[in-house]
Amino acid sequence: MDFTLTPKNETYRRQVRTFVERELLPLEQDPGAYDEHENIALDRLAELRAKARQQGLWCLQMPENLGGQGLDTCGMAACYEEMNRSIFGPVVFNSAAPDDGNMMVLAKVATAAQQERWLEPIIDGRVGSSFAMTEPPPGCGSDPGMMQTTATREGNHWLIHGRKHYITGAADASHFILIAKTSDDPRKGLTAFMFHRDDPGWDIVRRIPIMGPEEHGGHCELRFDGLRIPDHNRLMEVGDGLKVTQIRLGIARLTHCMRWLGLARRSLEVATDYVDTRESFGQRLAEREGVQTMLGAAAMDIQVGRLLTMHAAWTLDQGSFARKEVSMAKVAVADTLHKAVDTAIQLCGAHGYSKDTPLEWIYRYARQARLVDGASEVHKMVFSKTLLVEGTDFWRWGETQ
Ligand SMILES: Cc1cc2nc3c(=O)[nH]c(=O)nc-3n(C[C@H](O)[C@H](O)[C@H](O)COP(=O)(O)OP(=O)(O)OC[C@H]3O[C@@H](n4cnc5c(N)ncnc54)[C@H](O)[C@@H]3O)c2cc1C
Repeated sequence: MDFTLTPKNETYRRQVRTFVERELLPLEQDPGAYDEHENIALDRLAELRAKARQQGLWCLQMPENLGGQGLDTCGMAACYEEMNRSIFGPVVFNSAAPDDGNMMVLAKVATAAQQERWLEPIIDGRVGSSFAMTEPPPGCGSDPGMMQTTATREGNHWLIHGRKHYITGAADASHFILIAKTSDDPRKGLTAFMFHRDDPGWDIVRRIPIMGPEEHGGHCELRFDGLRIPDHNRLMEVGDGLKVTQIRLGIARLTHCMRWLGLARRSLEVATDYVDTRESFGQRLAEREGVQTMLGAAAMDIQVGRLLTMHAAWTLDQGSFARKEVSMAKVAVADTLHKAVDTAIQLCGAHGYSKDTPLEWIYRYARQARLVDGASEVHKMVFSKTLLVEGTDFWRWGETQ
């Protein structure tokens, strides 16, 4: 494995870095740049998206024939990390969740006609999208086998009944990917569909208040009461819902890691700036061994997280689903983000707890990392099951033993 960035990936990484430094980091200081949910205000977003597009930094993760730059997963890892050095970054480059995961799965498995209808407008930035899977108890959360939302066939249509919750972006989204139950088969009982916000037969019950800053469109509870979806808006085959979910979540979980590493790095940047100049008891904080130990441990964790992320990215680029690699990266980087931002706040003292730096924003945002797209405990359960099956081959080098 050689993680040297290709010239193309390095060029994009540098360009993204410059854009973030010049356009986004200064903007974070402006209270007028925020919407009421602590994300970038839509008018500022539109201006910056136009600039990113002009500079060829738009939707880097999409294939070139669909309007992106065709970065491989390792290239995405480097660029996404740079993007999320700013809390505003990913959405400006159209690389934020949930749109990026939705775009990637549609680019992989949707038919040409479906891509034209459902994918191209998301790539273009004309619409937002959501992925609706999780349900209120007793429906599915960690366990997809507990799904209660049903899709019942009626001629050339499917009738949807049920509820979903914590659906990111739903209040602003136009295009939805929905996972529903079409039979009791434990492996082939779920199916994926697409629907539009204007389709009758569903509504948003509420936007659920959360502890951290929100993605545009928030996290919503949805109710389906006879939504009719034509069969041509089914994604893949009947019974392939779990497959669609695995294809989407594999890469989507890893893109979370890529972005979280950017937030973790930024946190330490804020802390190193502070300890470099702040003095106590006649010495700069940076000269104190206790401070160096804290900084060193967090810096090392970021490097470990990056190696796990790059290894999972490389494994995906080899054509594997990289399930255990992605799961291990997700567990580790979620913890890394917590540790980095918590360390940074501690080292910055009261300044770290204030709203004069992005640390408190990142701290509140970070808490979701151990929950979204699979709780850490569930990921550990998944890769420990793999360990029990593979034994010592769990740590094999590629395909050789
Ligand atoms: C900010 C945010 C955004 C989200 N966005 C979306 C979205 O866009 N679309 C969507 O479909 N969902 C979304 N979700 C839902 C998310 O994917 C689920 O929260 C997650 O899958 C866990 O499901 P749950 O909340 O029902 O937890 P539960 O299944 O109720 O589990 C609760 C806790 O129990 C523990 N646990 C569960 N199973 C096991 C096990 N086998 N072994 C050990 N411990 C276990 C874990 O600690 C877990 O956190 C979002 C959630 C959040 C917080």
